[in-house]
Amino acid sequence: MDFAKVLGRFSVQRVQSPVLMAVQLRNLGMNQSSHLNCTDRSSGKSPMGCCCSVDSKSVGGEVFLVTSSSKSDVDYLGESTKGDLNIKEEHLDAFGIDGQATLDYPIEEIARMEAKGAEELLSDLGILDPFSSRHSPRGIFCSRTLNLRSISAIGYDMDYTLIHYNVMAWEGRAYDYCMGNLRSMGFPVDGLEFDPNLVIRGLVMDKERGNLVKADRFGYVKRAMHGTRMLSTRAVSEIYGRELVDLRKESRWEFLNTLFSVSEAVAYMQMVDRLDEGAVPAELTPLDYKGLYKAIYCTILFIMAVLAKCHSNLWHDFQAVGKALFRAHVEGQLKSEIMSNPERFVEPDPELPLALLDQKEAGKRLLLITNSDYHYTDKMMQHSFNRFLPNDMGWRDLFEMVIVSARKPEFFQMSHPMYEVVTSEGLMRPCFKARPGGLYSGGSAQMVESSLNIHGDEILYVGDHIHTDVSQSKVHLRWRTALICRELEDEYSALICSRGHRAALIDLINQKEVVGDLFNQLRLALQRRTKGRPAQTLAATNMDDQELTETMQKLLIVMQRLDQKIAPMLEADGEHFNKRYADIYTSRVSNFLHYTPFMYFRSQEQTLAHDSYSVYLPHLNGFAVDHLSKPSGL
Ligand SMILES: [Mg+2]
Repeated sequence: MDFAKVLGRFSVQRVQSPVLMAVQLRNLGMNQSSHLNCTDRSSGKSPMGCCCSVDSKSVGGEVFLVTSSSKSDVDYLGESTKGDLNIKEEHLDAFGIDGQATLDYPIEEIARMEAKGAEELLSDLGILDPFSSRHSPRGIFCSRTLNLRSISAIGYDMDYTLIHYNVMAWEGRAYDYCMGNLRSMGFPVDGLEFDPNLVIRGLVMDKERGNLVKADRFGYVKRAMHGTRMLSTRAVSEIYGRELVDLRKESRWEFLNTLFSVSEAVAYMQMVDRLDEGAVPAELTPLDYKGLYKAIYCTILFIMAVLAKCHSNLWHDFQAVGKALFRAHVEGQLKSEIMSNPERFVEPDPELPLALLDQKEAGKRLLLITNSDYHYTDKMMQHSFNRFLPNDMGWRDLFEMVIVSARKPEFFQMSHPMYEVVTSEGLMRPCFKARPGGLYSGGSAQMVESSLNIHGDEILYVGDHIHTDVSQSKVHLRWRTALICRELEDEYSALICSRGHRAALIDLINQKEVVGDLFNQLRLALQRRTKGRPAQTLAATNMDDQELTETMQKLLIVMQRLDQKIAPMLEADGEHFNKRYADIYTSRVSNFLHYTPFMYFRSQEQTLAHDSYSVYLPHLNGFAVDHLSKPSGL
């Protein structure tokens, strides 16, 4: 559709509107989602109380001014106003628009009509609005308010962030190599197959007990498997009823941080079964679950390190174990296998390079910070990006700085030696100061900050590793963070599908609560009467004995039947995704495409238990207030 035509039609339809001025403002290019700092001319103060000054640098052509870093303030949500838009007064004058007159209309009326108009306009333009994106599996979800306009630089991890691998192909190969090695060591692996549905990231391995557990945000174990067998609720309660999952105890608990952990966990759970069956030769390992984990750990960890260099600290542990011959052999084999046939391992996403291009053209400084080495990074990025970029652009053109072999998480914590990659063959030379546009190996996050002259919350880092990418960059540098979690798409769809189930479950639980309340009151009445005391009320004291006991028996039967219905429904009900560490989270980087590089992500209100009553049961509030305001007895 012709944009000018649509805009023209929109303007004509609304020309007689009581909010004429607001329409005219939009025709100047300022849509509803823009965060406007409208300065009141007469008083010189902002109507919202924010009075930051602006510079004259115009990013949006002739239409508006952008608040610069040096002139920025903090808005009413505590976010920086850097990058916010400001009306250009002389532009209004040129169009004959009186900004003061616009503010004379009740803002509620203007906002209501503008919101409706904005929806219609986006629909006419065929553009998916952020509201629709938010309510889909491809939404970007916000835990902590984040203003993209105040972000100067966006850093990206590569593996499973900019490049999504086919889990079955990738993890399947890692599993095959692991099993091949275990077989050569004498482990009984015949008949075992890779089953990616057995585990999911976010679970925790209990290496002492050979279990895989799912814990809630407080560390309580909700479900558990022993080997590949699901444990009953009773067994879970007996084993974990008195203890919490404590991830600081690394000797016992192993958190499955990334999709790379899937093959490791599958191999471990299957070998736990074999150990229980007595099939593992005693000379291979101490016959306990921890010893078994160590044997697998050495094998699979090495493979993960080869594939992604994503566990550099553990990688060093493995090196200490010393299996140089095996390492050299498998490293070469795996890398050449993946690089020679990336189609088999990588899931293409044509929208992703375009999302990054929008960000770059909006003035964001893009960084690639990956633990993978130069050759691997270059090959995989060429494959995933170049064919989807316009003209002759290559992946390197998107990034202001590229850092390979970064050795995260140490990258965020300390300073490693830095090398500049100087030839396309990957030859390097020592380097002491990074410069924009460079390609480096090693170094540190502090070096990135000082060379680009940007700091802390001006940088958004996007990664898939909850600890390495998201937690460490936030804890040590106060960078803003985004977590990429592909499983969200399935989880979101599952939540939507289970809405009816959940509503039915909540209904039943509420009914049980009402029935249970009555039962408890009758029981108390019976208890008091048995002791020769009056019950709670005169009516309860005088209630017929038989009627009282019959009613209680009936209620007990109802509660038991409700339990029989509720228990399996609760069992089938999933838990919510844990979003504690990331400011925003989403399933894939290309989801940024539908939000624009100017999005202001607002977190939803966090509620406590009493809040939900005030939201869902407003009539009770009214009742309580009325009740409290009246003298007792009336
Ligand atoms: Mg990664």
